[in-house]
Amino acid sequence: MLTIGRQDPGTGRRLQARERYCSSAVAAAGTRELQNAHREAAIGMSLRHSGHVHVDLPAGGTLATMDLSLFFAGTAGSVPSARRGLPALLVRRGGERILIDCGEGTQRQLVRSVGLADLTDVFLTHLHADHWLGLPGMLKSFELRDREKPLTVHGPPGTSALLERMRPVYGRPRYGLTIRDLEPDEPVRRDDLQVVPFAVRHRGTAFGYALLEDGRPGRFDAELAERLGVTPGPDFGRLQRGETIAGVAPEQVMGRPRAGRRVVVTGDTAPTDAVVVAAHRADLLVHEATFLHEDVDRAAATLHSTARQAAQVAADAEVRLLALTHLSSRYSGGEIRDEARAVFADTEVPRDFDTIEIPLPERGEPELVRWDGGSHGRARAAAAAAALESSS
Ligand SMILES: [Zn+2]
Ligand SMILES: [Zn+2]
Repeated sequence: MLTIGRQDPGTGRRLQARERYCSSAVAAAGTRELQNAHREAAIGMSLRHSGHVHVDLPAGGTLATMDLSLFFAGTAGSVPSARRGLPALLVRRGGERILIDCGEGTQRQLVRSVGLADLTDVFLTHLHADHWLGLPGMLKSFELRDREKPLTVHGPPGTSALLERMRPVYGRPRYGLTIRDLEPDEPVRRDDLQVVPFAVRHRGTAFGYALLEDGRPGRFDAELAERLGVTPGPDFGRLQRGETIAGVAPEQVMGRPRAGRRVVVTGDTAPTDAVVVAAHRADLLVHEATFLHEDVDRAAATLHSTARQAAQVAADAEVRLLALTHLSSRYSGGEIRDEARAVFADTEVPRDFDTIEIPLPERGEPELVRWDGGSHGRARAAAAAAALESSS
């Protein structure tokens, strides 16, 4: 049995979370227990509401090729600058679009770059104005655009009360708006992705979010299956979904289950072990770095982090890539980056509209892709406008 320690930021007490992970359970339940064990190890605590998770093969194997990227719509903290907008992070996974935080001006940031997508979910990290003030206007815009797809807004306790007070701005949208206060560690499941809030150290209740993809089944050895007497066709699918076919058990022809991708976004926080645990060996950690270390006292007083502190958290968590955001306008991105890289080399400081692509682990490392100025998008829009004009 594995044991994971976690420092409770409130009390300083050492918490212990035990995994239900032993070889007999894995043998008995196939990959499901292993999935849960990985997830619990990742988040470092028992996920009270998650229950058991199936490992189903997606139709057509889409999971194996599904793209995952984070688009940085706003990278400033507290107040916008000429170059940086207020916090907003667009998670793009296959056709799904999830927004984390929605600072003032987020709609405009999106419209200027990748477009205002029909989001399925918005997750607020906390209720400081720089993280949500763009939301009421965006909710109204969705209504004006005759959106039909329902939308859920999630956030820490107090989110629904706050957005209720904003009702006069956005009314009662016909598209079906749900507002949910989350408890820490209460996962939100969207197909084969879980978004798990966890408490961080900031003024008021503030969450980070861990985005956890389900694990993928191991590689299927079709040649071996055929040699053992399984007929190619539907039986191959059944075998991969866990059925024993013609005396051939799945584990005879399937490799070890492969971990899903994990991305952790801290929101505003002072350095905390809660992030180290949640982001343990994550593919990407998006950590705030409001200050340089010369202002460490100010960071402590306001429960924010310095670049050096964020880098130390990334080093302790052994993440594959660290991205720093929520920059105070008093520093340049270069200063923040250099300070962090002295502690943790694999650090990037995205500018507004940059993207981080997170390929499946066997396909390469997470990578920062600089915004190209939207030339592709502008060219497409111009071509569409020209086509429209010539047809009218
Ligand atoms: Zn903030
Ligand atoms: Zn804040």
